Amino acid sequence: MLVLMNPKWNGQFSCFDLVARKADRTNDHSRTIVQVLDLEIGGGEFVVMAGPCAVESESQLMQTAEAVAAAGARILRGGAYKPRSSPYSFQGMGVEGLKLLSKAREATGLAIVTEVMSEEEVDVIAEYADIMQVGTRSMENYALLEALGQCGRPVLLKRGLTATLEEWLRSAQVIAMSGNPNVILCERGIRTFETATRNTLDIAAVPVLKTVSHLPVIVDPSHAAGVRSLVPVLARAAVVVGADGLIVEVHPNPDKAMSDGEQSLTFVEFRQMMDDLDPYLELQRPSRQLRPQLLVVGGAD
Ligand code: PEP
Ligand code: MN
Repeated sequence: MLVLMNPKWNGQFSCFDLVARKADRTNDHSRTIVQVLDLEIGGGEFVVMAGPCAVESESQLMQTAEAVAAAGARILRGGAYKPRSSPYSFQGMGVEGLKLLSKAREATGLAIVTEVMSEEEVDVIAEYADIMQVGTRSMENYALLEALGQCGRPVLLKRGLTATLEEWLRSAQVIAMSGNPNVILCERGIRTFETATRNTLDIAAVPVLKTVSHLPVIVDPSHAAGVRSLVPVLARAAVVVGADGLIVEVHPNPDKAMSDGEQSLTFVEFRQMMDDLDPYLELQRPSRQLRPQLLVVGGAD
């Protein structure tokens, strides 16, 4: 993908020296590749993470893990600690949920990504998870971000509900400065005046971030859309703009899900989505491998 560096961006982002690309880098050799078990995120492979919003039971998680692995996902998602908008909603299974996630990893070989909401939970979650997810509501929880600097696991940093790219990269810089360079950025939609979708997917954020930062960038079409019918087309858009992967909600019976059922795909829908992505991934492949992204720095506005 060809993206010209806007000279304004140098001033805006270069202060985040651990996560921003240097102005004089003219090739793609400076990308961060995050290693997770045998996987590389931000390298050549488009990595799909999928699973339920929340871990609800052993059978729900195992069935989902097997279905998403069979359809080509490489990482299992599932919240054991849930940041719910309402205090009356299901708050997650806690450590029992973490144990089920590691059981699912043993059964399927999928790596695990799960959310951490406070610095007190970092150690216990790091025992079970392969990737620590920072949710949209926690993007500016600096005590948490600093604690994640020392957790020994990669961090999936979701964009804050109303965060600019600059604010988001600042949070990534905090994690990196605290000792952890393995940060994956996740665009999950932002709050705008639009109400037809749950959030507004800022698709331009992907090529901008891939230009100004060396970190991997993935897209969460589920929380952006809020409805399952839009998830596959937003996933396709993510591939086309050069994202490094996706995180998608999938549930054995979305109508009965304890959280985010409206935006969760059934197993059949998930497989269909994965099949539909293939030709778009194929189109991206030559440009990813043969043509390094061109950065043009300086010049007129
Ligand atoms: C989630 O991944 O289920 C979640 C709560 O996401 P977000 O933080 O993007 O709302
Ligand atoms: Mn969710």
